[in-house]
Amino acid sequence: MEELLIENGLRATKARMEVLNVLKSNSMPLSADELILKINREVVSGSSVYRILSELEKASILKKTLRQNGLHYYTIYDSHEHYIVCSNCGKIVPITHCPISPYEEGIAQNTGFKVTGHILELQGICSDCQG
Ligand SMILES: [Zn+2]
Ligand SMILES: [Zn+2]
Repeated sequence: MEELLIENGLRATKARMEVLNVLKSNSMPLSADELILKINREVVSGSSVYRILSELEKASILKKTLRQNGLHYYTIYDSHEHYIVCSNCGKIVPITHCPISPYEEGIAQNTGFKVTGHILELQGICSDCQG
């Protein structure tokens, strides 16, 4: 984690390390509010979480995803992932395969856009909630 910060030109402060460690130990993306509930507040104050998240996002250490519920979720930048969300209990499960990437080139050609990303979220009812 420390190297990740330094490589990206940021000082490895205790507060930044704490945010990264909490995100790393959660396999699911977290919103800022969820993160604040989990961090050690002796190290990071709730109000500085927002600033740290935006610093880490600008340095491309974190990936920010806008979910269909209107909240931003953060994960450490690694692989490209999508999620399926249970509309009953809110459980989020990653989908490792991205079905969209192969279409991006064709869409770029057809529209003249430079495609920079996409949002894809599946919804459903998880096995626990199907009861
Ligand atoms: Zn569920
Ligand atoms: Zn994708």
